[in-house]
Amino acid sequence: MTAPKAIERIVIVGGGTAGWMAAAALSRLKNGHNIDIVLIESEQIGTVGVGEATIPPFVGFNQLLEIDEREMLAATQGTFKVGIQFVNWGKQGDSYIHPFGNYGYEMGGISFHQVWHRFRQDGDRRPIQAFNLETMAAHFGKFARTQDYQRDDLPPMNYAYHLDATRYARFLRSYAEDRGIIRREGKVCDVTLDGETGFVTSVTMDDGQAVSGDLFIDCSGFRGLLIEQALKTGYEDWSHYLPCNRAVALPCMREDGSPPAPYTRATAHSAGWQWRVPLQHRNGNGHVYCSEFMGDDEAHDILVNNLDGKPGAEPNFLRFVTGRRKKFWNKNVVALGLSAGFMEPLESTSIHLINTGINKLVAVLSLDGITQAQEDAFNRLTGKEYNGIRDFLILHYKATSRDDSEFWNYCRTMDVPPSLTEKMQLFRSNGLIFREDDELFTETSWAAVMMGQGIAMAGHNPIADAMAGPDLKHEFDEIERSIAHLVKHMPSHAQYLQKYCPAP
Ligand code: FAD
Repeated sequence: MTAPKAIERIVIVGGGTAGWMAAAALSRLKNGHNIDIVLIESEQIGTVGVGEATIPPFVGFNQLLEIDEREMLAATQGTFKVGIQFVNWGKQGDSYIHPFGNYGYEMGGISFHQVWHRFRQDGDRRPIQAFNLETMAAHFGKFARTQDYQRDDLPPMNYAYHLDATRYARFLRSYAEDRGIIRREGKVCDVTLDGETGFVTSVTMDDGQAVSGDLFIDCSGFRGLLIEQALKTGYEDWSHYLPCNRAVALPCMREDGSPPAPYTRATAHSAGWQWRVPLQHRNGNGHVYCSEFMGDDEAHDILVNNLDGKPGAEPNFLRFVTGRRKKFWNKNVVALGLSAGFMEPLESTSIHLINTGINKLVAVLSLDGITQAQEDAFNRLTGKEYNGIRDFLILHYKATSRDDSEFWNYCRTMDVPPSLTEKMQLFRSNGLIFREDDELFTETSWAAVMMGQGIAMAGHNPIADAMAGPDLKHEFDEIERSIAHLVKHMPSHAQYLQKYCPAP
């Protein structure tokens, strides 16, 4: 790499969720710096048009940009989300919630589920879900934000949003344009590289105009216009672990005006699974499946037969290969969103990865120029993040006793990464969960999915035996009582939305 060249112009190629999130976040750079930020998008090409469920750090992304939550939710027909319900995963007929908050809280330095397991040995049959606010709120269709009941003795409500992704991109577009981001409409049809460094110097639009830049952010979707088509970065294919490679999306109007649930639902079918994302006026739905085990027509029929209302649009068929780019940052191109990689939306992690990609970019960015160290740090950290999420998704397929289809037989018996095998073994032996490298998913997340899918703890941490006694039991009972009390007095999710952020 030659001497760094100062960054005077950033070019974002693509205006889907990734492009506009990047533009909105980077618009803060314009404060006090003489820098041009240009976003190119093509209405003719359009966006992927799906991606409606988020996870809690996304709330922080919007707060950082000082976006008014009420305004944003009203504009995107958004709802609140406190977790994900998994149906038919461990075996058919099963259902559990992966909540956003924790089970109880750490007691005497050990995880709550260890203490819970100890009390079960004494014959206490209360389910662990009774000790989690988000699960109980989901169960009763209730919602309130922590600010509404702020009291130190009550647990906080951890939440994210469901939102209409197309409307969200539009919302961010107006935010970013108001702050000086320049939008160029049209197709990029050529990319020019520097003969010596291999850096991208400019992209050429279909009207013949060249847009030059110092740093390029590839948000062009699955095609990876710069990161792959121009720079040939390469792709790590994870299909052997996560074999689903197709999706069909189809929104529906909720029949009988039933209220939106405050959680996403993921229902396993014979060769994949179906999502249901409740917005204020409609549900987003889709069926993710594996083409080796199911055809498009069958996947479409299964989806249509399992909707909560009548289809509200034509089906949108999508193809993907699960995996990630070998580098997310290559030379002067940083890939965000679908151009960086893709993992199915089972845990709503794609928009999150855009969010953390932007955070890392902002953290390492220097307007003095690009260095190899920046590129390496970005790639190393992002790679770890992708791997952690990948393992957590694989767990949903591996930890199953389903044997009713070839697809499930494959998943149940497939080899998984050693990192996941170790996690499953540790949990099985005494409920141990190590959270590594700042990984996204918490102890409760891992415990919820492992227990929800039938992995039982054989024992627990011996400290739980040493601590067990009337005082601990009292504390334990208090957690359950305060959660039950709180949920009882919460408004329904529908009432909350109606008052807080009704869509116009
Ligand atoms: P896109 O939306 O594809 O945008 C690409 C942009 O690049 C467009 O503006 C396009 O016009 C532009 N472009 C492309 N080529 C050119 C060109 N030559 N010239 C000019 N412009 C060009 N994520 C979640 O977090 N939660 C979910 O619930 C979720 N569900 C999903 C379900 C499915 C089936 C799929 C496939 C994805 C899902 N995702 C989800 C992922 C989410 O949709 C994406 O991460 C998000 O929409 C970002 O997409 P993007 O902006 O990278 O790409």
